[in-house]
Amino acid sequence: MVDLASLVVDVPDFPRPGVVFKDVTPLLASAEGLAAAVDAMVASVPGGVDVVVGLEARGFLFGPPVALALGVGFVPVRKPGKLPRESVEVSYALEYGEETLALHVDAVGPGDRVLVVDDVLATGGTAVAAAGLVRRLGAEVVGVSVLLELTFLPGRALLAEHGLDRVDAVL
Ligand code: AMP
Repeated sequence: MVDLASLVVDVPDFPRPGVVFKDVTPLLASAEGLAAAVDAMVASVPGGVDVVVGLEARGFLFGPPVALALGVGFVPVRKPGKLPRESVEVSYALEYGEETLALHVDAVGPGDRVLVVDDVLATGGTAVAAAGLVRRLGAEVVGVSVLLELTFLPGRALLAEHGLDRVDAVL
């Protein structure tokens, strides 16, 4: 059994003082680690997912293999100015400053059952913002799946406040 936690490296004071950055690149570089991580994410997915929505940037690393394993497609939620066609956008507050996310208007729609995938759940602001975009297009968010949850932060509670009760973390 591969020890997934040992493949995620804590980097203190990155990208700024006081933040402990969870570096998943050693896990990605490990054939066993990557396979075990994706398997674990897939194992917890609720039934009936139609599409995986991955969040820039590291949701793009875990989302596509999860989508392939589920036999569904992958849709990117991107930072502003990256998507080439008509998009919906949302801005939300970060600890320092603001971020904007965008989603192509035709990427998901009514009747779609969406799984949101990212690497780390911290405050939950990013996942809530992305879920809001998905919902604006009429689709349903049936789950949020991350590799790692920072349990000392109230991310899960914020998601619950927004009706996102199905949150699965591998670590
Ligand atoms: P949040 O919106 O606070 O839940 O932050 C989640 C987003 O920021 C994810 O896309 C993560 O990739 C990134 N993130 C937040 N905190 C960390 C951390 N300590 N280590 C690595 N990535 C993080």
